[in-house]
Amino acid sequence: MLVRLIYASRPSQQVGIHGVNEILTISKKNNIKDNITGALVYSEHVFLQCLEGPRNEVNTTYRRICADARHTDCVLLQYMDIDFRLFGRWDMGSIQFKAEHNPLVMKYSEHGFFDPYNMNSRQCEMFMKDIAVAVSKSLKRTLITNHSATI
Ligand code: FAD
Repeated sequence: MLVRLIYASRPSQQVGIHGVNEILTISKKNNIKDNITGALVYSEHVFLQCLEGPRNEVNTTYRRICADARHTDCVLLQYMDIDFRLFGRWDMGSIQFKAEHNPLVMKYSEHGFFDPYNMNSRQCEMFMKDIAVAVSKSLKRTLITNHSATI
């Protein structure tokens, strides 16, 4: 049984870029083992994470994540049975939220700043999907530009 779980939380004070990298390393290792895929969007003030995979493994992973002192205020935003994964190719994609993503936030939020606590379940899902597409496109553009530059 496949499920999708999306939650938001707030980084504890000591978590910087180094802390996020540490989290991603352990996440990728565990998620591959558990057949979990997903994405973590993060800014200085907030985490928004999507986990997709077998129900028991997603539940167990979420319980472990909630107990982690590196963040607080875990709020479950979406939990549903799914027919297919949105992030099937990402063991745990990471997306640092940047000013260039503000137009996406405006699309889904009342106030125009990145605050998943004020987004509903469907908005969080669509926002994560959109931002993943935007990041993949910009990555492709960078690769093409770099490739042309070396020709
Ligand atoms: P161990 O590595 O044995 O650690 C024991 C305890 O210490 C755990 O409670 C752990 O949370 C805590 N801990 C570990 N390192 C630190 C540290 N540097 N500072 C403070 N406390 C620490 N794990 C996944 O498997 N998949 C994910 O997708 C995933 N996403 C995450 C997203 C966020 C925002 C955060 C904060 C954590 C995430 N984690 C994820 C990590 C998860 O919380 C566990 O640390 C990890 O799964 C290892 O669990 P463990 O019980 O083997 O802990």
